Amino acid sequence: MKEVKPRVFLVGETRIIESGLKDYLRHVGAPEWHTDAPSDAEALCEVMGRLCYRSFEPGLNPNVTKVREGNAPYLANIIRVGHGSVLEHSVLNFIFADVSRVVTHELVRHRQGTAVSQESLRFVRLDALSAYVPTHIRESEQGMEIFVRTVEQLEALQRELAELFEIDRAENFDLKKKLTSAFRRLAPIGLATTIGWSCNFRALRHVIETRTDPHAEEEIRFLFGQVYELVRERYPNIFADYTVEMVDGLPWVRTPNRKV
Ligand SMILES: Cc1cc2nc3c(=O)[nH]c(=O)nc-3n(C[C@H](O)[C@H](O)[C@H](O)COP(=O)(O)OP(=O)(O)OC[C@H]3O[C@@H](n4cnc5c(N)ncnc54)[C@H](O)[C@@H]3O)c2cc1C
Repeated sequence: MKEVKPRVFLVGETRIIESGLKDYLRHVGAPEWHTDAPSDAEALCEVMGRLCYRSFEPGLNPNVTKVREGNAPYLANIIRVGHGSVLEHSVLNFIFADVSRVVTHELVRHRQGTAVSQESLRFVRLDALSAYVPTHIRESEQGMEIFVRTVEQLEALQRELAELFEIDRAENFDLKKKLTSAFRRLAPIGLATTIGWSCNFRALRHVIETRTDPHAEEEIRFLFGQVYELVRERYPNIFADYTVEMVDGLPWVRTPNRKV
């Protein structure tokens, strides 16, 4: 058994097409408008928000005599007043590796604003098993012995079944798939696997808030603590209202602007 911890890879993000945005700004009468947003993803949310009231500059909308300058104050106000739909325009693409099926099962409960592609254990045959070891188990010598012994027995079972059914000799891939799917039923739910997870900023804020909460499960708290570190640095204006308190060695990421 290999002991692992969740790994976070941010592999994609929303990008602005400069020529298209310039054309639109000319069209609306604000050709000089520009943003100080640290990322395209934050800039795009600002553009989508400002177009609602034509608040790129005073006077474009005769009702607007004053506009909020700067990406950070603009997004802070959007978040404070709860115009969450504006945050749906920008999407991030993550790959979470070495996460258990405990985590992936919890993650896919978040339906709004997300997309999922999960490693198929009908296609990918198990041999060596990796797992996250929760703190209570890791800190107990006897608990650790039971955990490792059990996972290693389940590993051995996978190999035994593969030999019994001579899966390596099967020429028909459909048969391989059926056998692989049958064998995985004897794998533990703590088995480490991979999931591709995309989300918009609104969904990400919600998932960070719910899954770093001390009531959430340890491994998913660890995972979204890592996610938070990454996105706080890369998109500071979307996450500027968050504070972090360490609980049981993991970050609890909170905001007074939480929407349930
Ligand atoms: C600490 C913790 C413990 C949990 N324990 C359990 C448990 O014991 N058993 C269990 O089954 N689940 C459990 N869950 C999962 C939980 O019930 C949710 O299914 C999961 O967190 C997904 O969140 P969400 O419902 O906000 O969905 P998301 O898809 O993340 O939705 C985001 C928001 O969109 C809105 N929304 C989404 N779908 C709808 C809809 N159909 N209609 C109207 N509005 C919608 C809601 O405002 C929602 O909060 C737990 C979650 C946590 C964080």
